[in-house]
Amino acid sequence: MKRTFFSTLILLLITALTVSAQEIQVNSDRLHKSLMKLSSYGKNAAGGSDRQAYTVHDIEARKYVIGLMKDSGLEVSVDFAGNIIGKKAGKNPALKPIAFGSHIDEVPNGGDYDGPVGSMGAIEVVKTLSEQGIQTDHSLEVIIFTNEEGGVVGSRALVGALSKEALQVVSSSGLTQYEGIQALGGDPERIPELKRNSGDLAAFLELHIEQGGNLYTEELNIGVVEGIVAIEWWEFSFLGKANHAGTTPMNMRKDPMLPAAELVLAVNKIVTSYEGKQVGTVGKIQAFPGAGNVIPGEVKVTLELRDLSSEKIWKIYSEIEQKAKSLASGNEIGLKIKHIEVASKPALADPMVREVIKSQAEKLGFSTKSLPSGAGHDAQEMARIAPMGMIFIPSKDGISHAPDEFSTQEDIANGTNVLLHTILELDKRLK
Ligand SMILES: [Zn+2]
Repeated sequence: MKRTFFSTLILLLITALTVSAQEIQVNSDRLHKSLMKLSSYGKNAAGGSDRQAYTVHDIEARKYVIGLMKDSGLEVSVDFAGNIIGKKAGKNPALKPIAFGSHIDEVPNGGDYDGPVGSMGAIEVVKTLSEQGIQTDHSLEVIIFTNEEGGVVGSRALVGALSKEALQVVSSSGLTQYEGIQALGGDPERIPELKRNSGDLAAFLELHIEQGGNLYTEELNIGVVEGIVAIEWWEFSFLGKANHAGTTPMNMRKDPMLPAAELVLAVNKIVTSYEGKQVGTVGKIQAFPGAGNVIPGEVKVTLELRDLSSEKIWKIYSEIEQKAKSLASGNEIGLKIKHIEVASKPALADPMVREVIKSQAEKLGFSTKSLPSGAGHDAQEMARIAPMGMIFIPSKDGISHAPDEFSTQEDIANGTNVLLHTILELDKRLK
């Protein structure tokens, strides 16, 4: 009797293991084929992608993607901002949709993976569910956002954060955003009608390449994104006295290049003195008048700080500010500081969604790492209205926005399987 019970238990265990080994999976070859086909739109002689938003390549690629979405069982429409929206009804119409997607536009001479992986992955998830005859309780919504690379235009439109002024900005296609959206079949005048509110979506998910080297270097499968960092910029102007470089003795100079140079070193030292993943960069130095034989009268140094915590950014900044002031006064140089712009607020991933991504990745046998996203994404805009989660896969050598951008077929399929199982688990949990 005891023995029978024991063997039954073993049998049950074996069955459970077999089932978990047979978790439904996306079709890796089909996904790879659709990615390769998408990459043919706008391929240039250097092997890069010139599929900037609103160009003929973007428009042709969108037609291909719309066909693929329809073929996957999605009901497809193009909204007033040019976003491609694909819907699949759920069993329970009272539940808000689970949305996921990314973008297919690229920077000039960009790669084939930043955006396409999350877009083709999203469509492959729906195709797999349709094939398996699985209908989720929540309706599903695949979103292919308009012009991500040129200012997260489509996602801003969806959350009501796209201003009239932003529509007049000229995009890399040469058209204004307004004209470009019209070229995609949108109606910029009616964009305010698109606005979704907090609670309109059950969740938003985006699969994306890491665009950094953490996962690739550490040979890990899946990145569980903690959030998208905030970015702050400042400009330090050191004010001295311009004079002849040949006739002004060293002890009679008021040279603003000296404190500026020391500040560059200090930024690196201060930023690295804090625990954590914050980054700080001096990316631009300008000397005025800027001649080889003139002691500059003014030197401008930019500072950019990024982190998931705005509080931490400002704490680090205040230390850098103190240092700049003391360097200026020590050299008898004037100093003006300008806070140029807040490029973005941090967008934190939802803790429950993060936990589901991590546990589903582990269930599928993948190694994971929690990390922030140093680059902006549509998900950061969507986080304003919905619990957000992002799944990263490795980028070879951490390269992106370049023809050398690369992720393996296996890594792409792994990330897409994590997306699929995250959606299925959220479908159970979000009621
Ligand atoms: Zn992207």
